[in-house]
Amino acid sequence: MALKPSDIPLPATGPNRFHYWANPAPKDIGETCAEFLHLLPGPTYIYITGKDPQRARVVVTLSHGNEPSGLHAIFEILKQNIEPAVDIHCFIPSVDAAKQSPGFIYRTLPHHRDFNRCFKPPFDIDEQGLLALELLQYLLTIKPECLLDVHNTSGSSPPFGVTTFMDEGHNALVSLFTHRMIITDLQLGSLMEISEALTPAVTIECGGALDAESANVAFDGLKRFIMFEDVLTDGHSDLMLEFFHNPLRLELQEGSDIAYGDHCLFEDGVTLLPDIENHNFGTVDATCLLGYVSGDLTNVLSAKDSEGNERINDFFELRDGQLFPAKVLKLFMVTSNPEIARKDCLLYFVEAELPRN
Ligand SMILES: [Zn+2]
Repeated sequence: MALKPSDIPLPATGPNRFHYWANPAPKDIGETCAEFLHLLPGPTYIYITGKDPQRARVVVTLSHGNEPSGLHAIFEILKQNIEPAVDIHCFIPSVDAAKQSPGFIYRTLPHHRDFNRCFKPPFDIDEQGLLALELLQYLLTIKPECLLDVHNTSGSSPPFGVTTFMDEGHNALVSLFTHRMIITDLQLGSLMEISEALTPAVTIECGGALDAESANVAFDGLKRFIMFEDVLTDGHSDLMLEFFHNPLRLELQEGSDIAYGDHCLFEDGVTLLPDIENHNFGTVDATCLLGYVSGDLTNVLSAKDSEGNERINDFFELRDGQLFPAKVLKLFMVTSNPEIARKDCLLYFVEAELPRN
């Protein structure tokens, strides 16, 4: 079930988890994004006054400490003293994870929940849940006209947007950054799932955390988001959006493990080819070797649809221990980081639409 305003308890008196910083001056934010990060004492809420203070938009970034492009973009916007069209409220949650040496390596602190899975009750089970709740409570007060949640993919990838909704407002928000748009009905407790209840919200994946182009994608898009009078109607871009509907997640089964290599490395698990992330937004067919599985496919991998039905055998097959797509698929958010594959998923996929003549 999507989150409802009634699921968000009113603020209790207690510590503010977000440190508030209003209108940081260019001279006060350090010389580099890394210096800026180290000036933040923990989760931070930055407010920037806009030309029209009757209106507000929200940016959330660094929900994952290893995804720096959004913070980079905020740093540049502050450094260049860009005046927003409306009030901008920036929330930067995973500062402590990002600060862990050597910087921007940890998605979360060890033993912490993934912050972008915490936007659903119950909130009061840990610090991450309470931080997510505090952000939601701010949104109820700020009443923004829209919200961006800015991320990077862990693997190399072109940029794309993700939304739970398909309408003009959501399309317009994504097209500030990219023409690729994923529409999902998976309910994972991510921030963008508030779209129905609170305000139009989209996730922007600016490209791989290590891809040089990602910081530019984030900065150019965020600059449009804060400077344009209107970001919710089509017309600020002539990009033709490319839609990907209801992707499935390829996940590890309990008790199986993953590695990356060019031959089978496991008794009970999957070995994916080391260059698998080159398939991001590419099309793969039944001739495309993805890796190796020892044992039964259903014991090792899982791909459930939004109703929870197991669909792995509809989309993937084993031939002599080699893993292939069973039909033509488009893959994205492919990771070659075993930690993320274990905790989150190996990749997302949709069935590719065949060209119509
Ligand atoms: Zn992320």
